[in-house]
Amino acid sequence: MKDYVTELMAGVKAKNPAEPEFHQAVQEVVESLELVLERHPEYRKAKILERMIEPERLIMFRVPWEDDKGEIHINRGFRIEMNSAIGPYKGGLRFHRSVNLGILKFLAFEQVFKNALTTLPMGGGKGGSDFDPKGKSDNEVMRFCQSFMAELFRHIGAYTDVPAGDIGVGGREIGFLFGMYKKLRNEFTGVLTGKGLSWGGSLIRPQATGYGAVYFAAEMLKTRKEGLEGMSCLISGSGNVAQYTAEKLINVGARPLTFSDSGGYIYDEAGITAEKLSFIMDLKNVRRGRIAEYADKFKSATFTPFDPKLDYNPLWNHKAQCAFPSATQNEINGKDAANLLRNGVYVISEGANMPTTIEGVNQFLEAGILYGPGKAANAGGVATSGLEMAQNSMRISWTRDEVDSRLQTIMKAIHRACYQTAEAYGTPGNYVNGANIAGFLKVANAMMDQGVV
Ligand code: NDP
Repeated sequence: MKDYVTELMAGVKAKNPAEPEFHQAVQEVVESLELVLERHPEYRKAKILERMIEPERLIMFRVPWEDDKGEIHINRGFRIEMNSAIGPYKGGLRFHRSVNLGILKFLAFEQVFKNALTTLPMGGGKGGSDFDPKGKSDNEVMRFCQSFMAELFRHIGAYTDVPAGDIGVGGREIGFLFGMYKKLRNEFTGVLTGKGLSWGGSLIRPQATGYGAVYFAAEMLKTRKEGLEGMSCLISGSGNVAQYTAEKLINVGARPLTFSDSGGYIYDEAGITAEKLSFIMDLKNVRRGRIAEYADKFKSATFTPFDPKLDYNPLWNHKAQCAFPSATQNEINGKDAANLLRNGVYVISEGANMPTTIEGVNQFLEAGILYGPGKAANAGGVATSGLEMAQNSMRISWTRDEVDSRLQTIMKAIHRACYQTAEAYGTPGNYVNGANIAGFLKVANAMMDQGVV
């Protein structure tokens, strides 16, 4: 089996050069699947894994737009339609200057497994652009979104491919994208999720990823008969996922201590309260300012600017019990993982996608801590997008409590599936194996049923 994995990875690297994040995401999954492929030679024979690492369709396009001064800019747009075995492609759009094909392929690949875990009928996809919304006016963002949709609209649809938000794509961007789709198609359908409440959005969708990551942490703690109350928590990022992770943590009596953006991080030894969080929400969502301002406003906090010379992130070097990485991929490296463990962190619930390097993941697994990988822990976002799709199809809106209780039920089901699968495959407590294997089995069985397509 080792030979098979080595050969498969060599093939992935040769066929997809210069895509290190994609290689990393595949490697992690393939290592978990060794046991499954040993027990089920039929999957190997049908080349299920080989098919899963090849996107069903890859769309790449030019996005020209004009800034407020009349200057023309050209960005690159992408949509990766990775796997539709169990439902329409589903996954977010990311607008960030680091976006490239390899990053979106890693995200689309992870999404396939994550969506399978949600219990809802959703395939996997991802998309976005190397457009950087930072510092752009609302009109510039609108013109960019319109140009982006002027191409994307012909590839998506409520029964084909349903994009949502991700880094750099929130309610404002989804609004502009939806407006253009509707104009071009002349139809009002649930083609995007994360919509505004008055035009088809779901209550709790903005909160869902962060709340879900906290629910997942609570479920992991329950296996040790513990709870989150009183726990000190490190959070990275200060966007959608970070904000609602903090909100739920505060609600359950835990103490968030940190927040960050690409400029650096704040550490508030007094704890981030509901009042302080509303300052952050206004700073980030309305004024679109930098997290450094938090330390000017609250004297119990210090701001540490990002230092590119460091080979570790000092945010992960504070005493705490829990960590919720909620910014971006590979933000916890081997050194950070060692620092977290040394500082007493024993619960990690990943709001971000693949925030930990393979070296870091291996340290967490060896230490036997409660480590919830992104594809399980942050699945609440896409699950609630699935609930938004269901409401759109039925043309009704559920109440906040209804959606939140469905979200909690789904997060519990995901936890149970990961926990039980890890045990069934001889690695109890290993949520990485649990998530990869449970997600794989669902998609693989659907692919077997549907023949060679
Ligand atoms: P936002 O754009 O709302 O926030 C992202 C935050 O992370 C910002 O504070 C941003 O800082 C910071 N950040 C992003 N890239 C970098 C970087 N390269 N270096 C340092 N800081 C960075 O995005 P979300 O909160 O939606 O997404 C955060 C993570 O959660 C991503 O990994 C995303 O894929 C994942 N996720 C999101 C879901 C959702 O529903 N939104 C669902 C599941 C996963 P700055 O503004 O300075 O760039």
